Amino acid sequence: MRIMNGTLEEQFQKLWDYRTELLKRNPNSTVEIDIEPGIVSNYFTLKCFMCTFFLNSRSVLVGAVGVFRRMYICLGGLKHGFKLGCRKFIGLDGCHLKSAYKGQLLCAVGLDGNNCMFPIAYAVVEAEKLDSWRWFVAYLVQDFDIGLGDGWSFISDRQKGLLNVVQEMLPMAEHRYCVRHLHNNFKGKYGGRSLKDKLWACARASNIEAFQVAMTNIKEENEGAWKWLTEVPFHHWTRSHFKTESRCDLLLNNMCESFNRCILGAREQGVLLMLEMIREYLMRRLQTKRDEMVSWEDKKFTPKIYKIIEKNKKLSGSCYSTYAGYDEFEVTTFTGSKYAVHLGNRTCGCMRWDLCGIPCQHVISCLNRMGYSVEDYVDKVYTTANYKKAYSGIIYPMNGHNLWEKSGLVMKPPTVERQPGRPKKRRRPEMPDLVEKEIEGVKTLSKKTQLTVR
Ligand SMILES: [Zn+2]
Repeated sequence: MRIMNGTLEEQFQKLWDYRTELLKRNPNSTVEIDIEPGIVSNYFTLKCFMCTFFLNSRSVLVGAVGVFRRMYICLGGLKHGFKLGCRKFIGLDGCHLKSAYKGQLLCAVGLDGNNCMFPIAYAVVEAEKLDSWRWFVAYLVQDFDIGLGDGWSFISDRQKGLLNVVQEMLPMAEHRYCVRHLHNNFKGKYGGRSLKDKLWACARASNIEAFQVAMTNIKEENEGAWKWLTEVPFHHWTRSHFKTESRCDLLLNNMCESFNRCILGAREQGVLLMLEMIREYLMRRLQTKRDEMVSWEDKKFTPKIYKIIEKNKKLSGSCYSTYAGYDEFEVTTFTGSKYAVHLGNRTCGCMRWDLCGIPCQHVISCLNRMGYSVEDYVDKVYTTANYKKAYSGIIYPMNGHNLWEKSGLVMKPPTVERQPGRPKKRRRPEMPDLVEKEIEGVKTLSKKTQLTVR
């Protein structure tokens, strides 16, 4: 492995060449390397004063030499696919790297038309903190024309630093908190199955009335838990307060978790091998998705969406709709609840159609009454044509590092920082071999050894 990929230090040295090769093979990609400010190799300072000036001013240059700090990669095939066929919804997360140089991998993962993950960008950074998130999000904003975040939604695990970065750089964007993560914090104080179910009922409530009922249920059981939840702004964690532009009702940061799981083996490798394993995985993935599509290519919508539509069609049997004229309907369910539906504006009182763009059972009962096709009222983001666009891009194959253009420049590995996290478990030292102790001239054995001897 060492002969094939080089030592961990050599892998850092090859990063400038890797960047050049990636950009050459994958047009429209963004590959940026950030180096430690002010630290340059002796070789370099002697050779070039001008570049030293640029390095000190923290400018990222092609051909700059220094100590590795961060690397951001957004491949052209994924950038293109995301812009054409995905919603304006991005999950952000970071995970630890397990090689000797540690560090963390930040990732941005979108959602395709079949509600599956669509990785768009990743970066190796020294640690997950305010400065590194700011650096990562700045490139993301630039690559995907996010601006101030108007019409965009982000979901994360409330990481330190990221909260401030989203507030500061994307003030117009919606920032959702992963409810599983929220519950993990919540259960530290208020545990138990009953409170957990009630918290999830609050998060899943798609309209404000249902949310208020769910919150009252919590208050009746435990006022402290209710107070804890009211302190987390509602627009971060409950569907009833979400914006509807992103056409997504997701409460969990599952996309990032899936991506991190897929690259688990890569995270144990040296930096270059890891980046190559991730690129190869993404390259394979695009083609696997295209292969899978062959079996349902002639259908109008993606498989998962068909299942949801079929489920809602069955449920619509228990709804009765009354036509009020133009596009207006009143739908009564068998439990006696009533919902106002407007077909033109694509809204239903339950808010589920507004949130995700798939007609709920109330809307389907109106469509059936009028003899309209349900498929005409499903959001375009879920169409097979749109899905095809998302996976139309390609990540181009690369030659081995022996065929890369050599810059001859030096990149030193970073100094290893101790990562914040869970302290290591203290293990009992292993039982010593027959250790003999000589105390005051008397030959004695340690207590354990004495027992063994006996
Ligand atoms: Zn509805």
